[in-house]
Amino acid sequence: MARKAIDLHCDTLMKIAKSGNLDENEKSHVSLKGLRDGGVALQCFADFVPTGIFPKPVRKIATAAMFNSFYKKYQKMMVYHADALFPVLKAADLDKCGVDGKIGVLLTIEDGGVLGDKIENVKKFYDKGVRLVTLTWNHANAIGYPNSYEPEIMNKGLTPFGKEVIREMEHLGMVVDVSHVSDGVFRDVAEMATKPFLASHSNSRAVCGHKRNMTDDMIRKLADKGGVMGLNLGPEFVGSVEGVTRMEDLVAQILHIRQVGGSEVLALGSDFDGIHGQLDVAGPQDWPKLEDALKAAGLSEDELDKMWYANAERVFREVL
Ligand SMILES: [Zn+2]
Repeated sequence: MARKAIDLHCDTLMKIAKSGNLDENEKSHVSLKGLRDGGVALQCFADFVPTGIFPKPVRKIATAAMFNSFYKKYQKMMVYHADALFPVLKAADLDKCGVDGKIGVLLTIEDGGVLGDKIENVKKFYDKGVRLVTLTWNHANAIGYPNSYEPEIMNKGLTPFGKEVIREMEHLGMVVDVSHVSDGVFRDVAEMATKPFLASHSNSRAVCGHKRNMTDDMIRKLADKGGVMGLNLGPEFVGSVEGVTRMEDLVAQILHIRQVGGSEVLALGSDFDGIHGQLDVAGPQDWPKLEDALKAAGLSEDELDKMWYANAERVFREVL
């Protein structure tokens, strides 16, 4: 049996059929069978709305429409697969993940711009079942600034409203996700967070120099705060060969992150259905292949248990 896993990020709601049947679209990385074969006990599904792509005059309306279209698919999926999937809404729900073959689904927002600029919206999305917010995508929003090759933007942090959002999320029991944010936003979150936070789908910048990845200093800070970072499988975030994610590059990422941040910071964050290319881990069914490669590279059973499940579970338990 495959090792029990939590995957902190996928964009599968973009690919899923209108019926909500996870197995209908063969072009999707994630199927129900794949989740089962890969041992996944909790899968995060992102409602991905890159709010910054919409021109300002229509941004509010377009954002709401896009969020709702994916939210409907999420609802359909939960109904279609009611005997296999259930929503993870509170810490006690973690006890059910992987029991009797049930898979927990944690709904996330990718791009906190969806929250607009009113603090009461955080609770509105909490009430819809959202339990994790990726603060930005690749554009600035009311919360803060995104990753950028321009140092001026990269250094900009949370806005006063962004700080309010962090406090409100911690108060309600929502997980703060710093994947995609600027180094400045990361610094501000690390400074003010009173609970663990995470980077749902980010790798090491020392191993692969993409601006989306995290410096060694950030990895250390994240670990100090009790956070985790989910391994992103996308070629541009992993390593050496364009358009290809090789197993050896994933192993190199993990060995480096472990050396810098310790094994308590490791987690999985595939980014399935948001990434493209030739992937050695091409769906949840391939998690056991990664497990074998990491075992061969020297990770212990205990470390693999932590990376696959216990570390991410620890964060969810403390926050939800
Ligand atoms: Zn992303």
